Amino acid sequence: MNILVINCGSSSLKFQLINADNEKLIAKGLCERIGIEGSRISYTPDGGEKEEKEAPMGSHTDAIRLVLDALTNEKTGVVKSLGEIGAVGHRIVHGGEKFAESTLIDSEVLAAIEACNDLAPLHNPANLIGINACRELMPDTPMAAVFDTAFHQTMPDKAYMYGLPYEYYEKYKIRRYGFHGTSHSYVSKKAAEVLGRKYEDLKIIVCHLGNGASVSAVMNGKCVDTSMGLTPLEGLIMGTRSGDIDPAIIEFIAHKEGKSIDEIMTVLNKKSGVLGLSDNLSSDFRDLEAGYHEGSRRAVNTMETFAYRVAKYIGAYTAAMNGVDVICFTAGVGENSSFIRSMICNHYLGYLGVKLDEAANEKRGEDIAISTADSSTTVMVIPTNEELAIARETYRLVTG
Ligand code: AMP
Repeated sequence: MNILVINCGSSSLKFQLINADNEKLIAKGLCERIGIEGSRISYTPDGGEKEEKEAPMGSHTDAIRLVLDALTNEKTGVVKSLGEIGAVGHRIVHGGEKFAESTLIDSEVLAAIEACNDLAPLHNPANLIGINACRELMPDTPMAAVFDTAFHQTMPDKAYMYGLPYEYYEKYKIRRYGFHGTSHSYVSKKAAEVLGRKYEDLKIIVCHLGNGASVSAVMNGKCVDTSMGLTPLEGLIMGTRSGDIDPAIIEFIAHKEGKSIDEIMTVLNKKSGVLGLSDNLSSDFRDLEAGYHEGSRRAVNTMETFAYRVAKYIGAYTAAMNGVDVICFTAGVGENSSFIRSMICNHYLGYLGVKLDEAANEKRGEDIAISTADSSTTVMVIPTNEELAIARETYRLVTG
């Protein structure tokens, strides 16, 4: 069965068509600037040429229509008709406490997702628009919602509660939820599979280091803690997000700079992280790494601060699980930067008996152990594949 995976943002839409039987990618693409002048679609059939063109997209429905046209196009399409798309899987950012698992979409589920809008005002409304657009154009195709938060719903309350008045939890469900759950779940399971060990027997720490970044602790097959919180702002220092800060800084900046809460949130989400810390050198770790090697003080300090924060979370989660068997690196930085991995492992993880295999650490694009055979803790690189995980979940729900 072919599954169309949709990841819908406020003005963009990423898609992949995946054959769930052999788990092969059939085609993928991206619609950008939806509802804005200069909207564009890119489309790549697997093994074929990437096509890019400007195309008016006033709405997400227009974007989905163009996606479906591309997939069924006589010359460059990959299916003859929409009937060959068996189901659609939607990435949904926030499932609140309601969704501990993926689910098939019906009107009740739509209402429950909408009820989580408050918790993710930038993401969930866009995700819903994507679902509604697909339902309009493919009314008879089953659809599933796969939540970024679901995998973390197994966290115990000591991990998810904030030290805030309890009434805020009761009234508004203010607590830690965690994100990137599809990736943490996929990577931790894959690590166990590659090692030939039982998932349920392992203590695994997953470091998802991309433009957004989070760490999670997975013990005996269940997530027990993760670094993102009510929103994806908490935890590690990210591309442009601050991660953990003293909350009093918000008031301090408000007074010093005469900024509103909204303006400060924009600073924390878009102008902070390694971008802010490097004094606007870059949010891209490739630039920072190049700067590091050129001896740029800002780049050196930024990379060291980033790596130190990751190492601190690894330490915290080792304590939370009373040990760790496997540490996994994934996502853009985690998969590609041998330098960051080596910085984290060689500077900070000696107490875990971590010994890096420097040659294995230079490899790319493989599910691989990068620690030596006599390393007390296994360190791995596992390329994440959130789309495949969404396709698998969708297939399971549709056929189950
Ligand atoms: P993601 O959000 O997972 O797509 O990751 C995006 C991040 O990965 C960006 O900050 C990129 O700079 C970073 N990245 C991609 N390739 C490399 C690389 N070769 N070395 C360091 N960082 C990389």
